[in-house]
Amino acid sequence: MRTPVVAGNWKMNLDRAKAIGLVRELKSRQGARAAAVEVGVAPPFPYLEAVAAELRGTDVFLAGQDLHQEPFGAFTGEVAGAMLKDVGCSHVIVGHSERRRVMGESDELVGRKLARALDQGLVPILCVGETIAERQAKRTLGVVLEQLDAALRDLTESNAAPLLVAYEPVWAIGTGVNATAEQVEEMHRVVRDALVKRFTPAFADRTRILYGGSVKPENAAELLAVEGVDGVLVGGASLSAASFLAIIDACPDRARAGGFRT
Ligand code: PEP
Repeated sequence: MRTPVVAGNWKMNLDRAKAIGLVRELKSRQGARAAAVEVGVAPPFPYLEAVAAELRGTDVFLAGQDLHQEPFGAFTGEVAGAMLKDVGCSHVIVGHSERRRVMGESDELVGRKLARALDQGLVPILCVGETIAERQAKRTLGVVLEQLDAALRDLTESNAAPLLVAYEPVWAIGTGVNATAEQVEEMHRVVRDALVKRFTPAFADRTRILYGGSVKPENAAELLAVEGVDGVLVGGASLSAASFLAIIDACPDRARAGGFRT
């Protein structure tokens, strides 16, 4: 049984007071059985330390939204994996579509960042997904498989072990239009098959594959019930404790062994 993961990507939103307020509300409603759903948040870099202080003693994990591919050095404006660890992060998002498309990160660069995250002992949340033009051109599978291949090429089964993958169709991110259950099921099967081929069936079987793209309380139960979906990466709906908690509560009972809130 793969424990579901619900991660909130706050992107470049909130201010210090709102970030702390959100995380306080989240932890105050966290139930005794929270271990049955892994929950995490990825605040903007300047608020990581303050959020880490709020999360101390809870099961909610802290994630960076990105890291630099080098361990340290003259890279003005960048953040190293070791720094994320130092301020309390256990996870880091790698290859989010906004970094790929807006900041121009190549598949190759995402692969280097992924390797660095693993080197630093961070759990990477590797994002892959196609644009609408790529889907319309029937290139979805090819694009996602290329992204996975470039990212995983130099990894071994043992150093890649903590990997989380998020299938996030770019056209579904922040648009209010989520992928259909059929599209999600197909792509999660494609990702898991790629993990079988790249590593082993056992690796693929234990790796959590999340869906991301306009997940909200209204569609979370349906998306989380899709075969092969082991959780969700949530953007907009993670900025309110009420909607984020509703998504956590939508994790299927078979996996949750009860409720997140008590
Ligand atoms: C995301 O940014 O990873 C994301 C899924 O955003 P949203 O939920 O807002 O579509």
